[in-house]
Amino acid sequence: MRYDDSPPPPESASSISPDRPWFARRPALAVALAALAPTCLAGWVLTQVLSGPASGAPQPAAAPLAASSPAAAADAKPSASAASPAASRAATPAKGPLTGRTVVIDPGHNTGNFKHGREIDQQVDIGTNRKECDTTGTTTNSGYMEAEFSLDVSHRARALLEAKGAKVVLTHDGERPWGPCIDERARIGNQATADAVVSVHADGASAGNRGFHVILPARVKGGAADTAKIVGPSRGLGERIASNFARTTGSSPANYLGSGTGLVVRDDLGGLNLSTRPKVFVECGNMRDDKDAAQLMSPEWRQKAAQGIADGITGFLGG
Ligand code: ZN
Repeated sequence: MRYDDSPPPPESASSISPDRPWFARRPALAVALAALAPTCLAGWVLTQVLSGPASGAPQPAAAPLAASSPAAAADAKPSASAASPAASRAATPAKGPLTGRTVVIDPGHNTGNFKHGREIDQQVDIGTNRKECDTTGTTTNSGYMEAEFSLDVSHRARALLEAKGAKVVLTHDGERPWGPCIDERARIGNQATADAVVSVHADGASAGNRGFHVILPARVKGGAADTAKIVGPSRGLGERIASNFARTTGSSPANYLGSGTGLVVRDDLGGLNLSTRPKVFVECGNMRDDKDAAQLMSPEWRQKAAQGIADGITGFLGG
């Protein structure tokens, strides 16, 4: 979402009403599934023990299920990442054109942020200003969360980049109850000395506003923020992602900002202002527009989105 002007989520997840959105019911549903299918769960655990942590990559068998019922698919697949913090995930990278390169992917928001308003509202220093630690992100009108979308696309992009040999670090992998804060998100990219950092989002604009855009860092200086060295390379990264994203998804650049270029420069995002590595945000579409939302909710479309992002990064890194 665009942090400052997106509409609030349709309903707080702190609600306990029986008609609260599906995502708020997920823990109960997961418990029910576990209770009803102990054999399946045991089988899954055994599989994990034998095969090691799941990669988080898209699984072909899960795609048709996810297409018909994303919530059911997500609930039926336990999150192996909970026991495997993103930053310490030990992957055996393939040899490829990106061997030796490090990419940090930042899945926007966190599905738990809805339940941690006090924590994510805390102000953090972004150098030029102070700003909320994090935000909830937006949802589609049917309740599909931006945070779930961004984590799924990030997993898919990670798999594509690892297949080319890159070391990929996620800023979070659903293993934490909320956050990280935007300053920590930036710090993870900096400390990884990432060759490229991409923050994955979807927007929450009015219906009728459609298409994707890539947000580039403005030149800012203040406190810990100094983007002078990353403005140029970040534009190179963003332009490559925009062109590849358009190609792989068939989506058009946003029709409501960026003058049709699919590129927007902003000086108010802590995740960009505090970055010392080339970094952009990708707003993959508008969750509040039903046509865009239908794409964002499609696993097949999300794979195309991840491909565009990964291809853009690969092109930027000369792979
Ligand atoms: Zn967002």
